[in-house]
Amino acid sequence: MLPAIRSATVLIAAGCLIATAAGASAQDPHAWTPHDPDRPRPPEVEPGPATGPALPPADAAVLFDGRDLSRWRAEDGGPARWRVVEGEDGGWFEVVPGTGSVVSADSFGDVQLHVEWAAPAEPTGDGQDWGNSGVYLMGLYEVQVLNTYDNPTYADGHAAALYGQYPPLVNASRPPGEWQSYDIVFRAPRFDPDGQLLRPARVTVLHNGVLVQDAVELTGPTAYQARPPYTAHADRLPISLQDHGSVVRYRNIWVRELDGS
Ligand code: MG
Repeated sequence: MLPAIRSATVLIAAGCLIATAAGASAQDPHAWTPHDPDRPRPPEVEPGPATGPALPPADAAVLFDGRDLSRWRAEDGGPARWRVVEGEDGGWFEVVPGTGSVVSADSFGDVQLHVEWAAPAEPTGDGQDWGNSGVYLMGLYEVQVLNTYDNPTYADGHAAALYGQYPPLVNASRPPGEWQSYDIVFRAPRFDPDGQLLRPARVTVLHNGVLVQDAVELTGPTAYQARPPYTAHADRLPISLQDHGSVVRYRNIWVRELDGS
């Protein structure tokens, strides 16, 4: 009896090791070229039921409260040119294609960031052409926004991917047109006075309440078909939201600054 149990234990342990290795390999950016179509796509997980907007905690800075874009600018520093829309359950704002990204008026380093977004309900294309936008920490490091509900695309371009580097652990997307949430914990990269990288940026993401990025270390700033190295930058920089030509909606954005560590 005992040997049989031991064998089963060894088999289970071996299975766990294989499963862990396979998971690590799908997430390991060094094992795949950017946007590799053969990289395993994240398994789908139905998130819990949608709730209303998540209310900001008392120590959060509210970057959009449903009313105006006073906390945002255009890339050239002028007024943000995206559109604010009154809604029954509070307002949102949406991308006006061709006007460029919007940039937070304030700069941030280490943060907890809450963002809610919705892709267009009707198809505007497929793959990367349906609901593409992005949340750029420090204007450099993108958490991808995209409709990836029944809309296949390459693994590292999914919603909640750290674009071009890390696919999400699972695909917790809601259907297009529905509100979705990101809760992001971002630790900025650290540089020494000579501009050498001391520590890469580290990112954790929950998509609709589901853990999809678990303190992964970015290889450098986000790029298309490339993974450029870090270039030293300021300790604090604005957050930006990407104009990728798709009318993506945003609402209920708040941020908590975290102590450096
Ligand atoms: Mg994008």
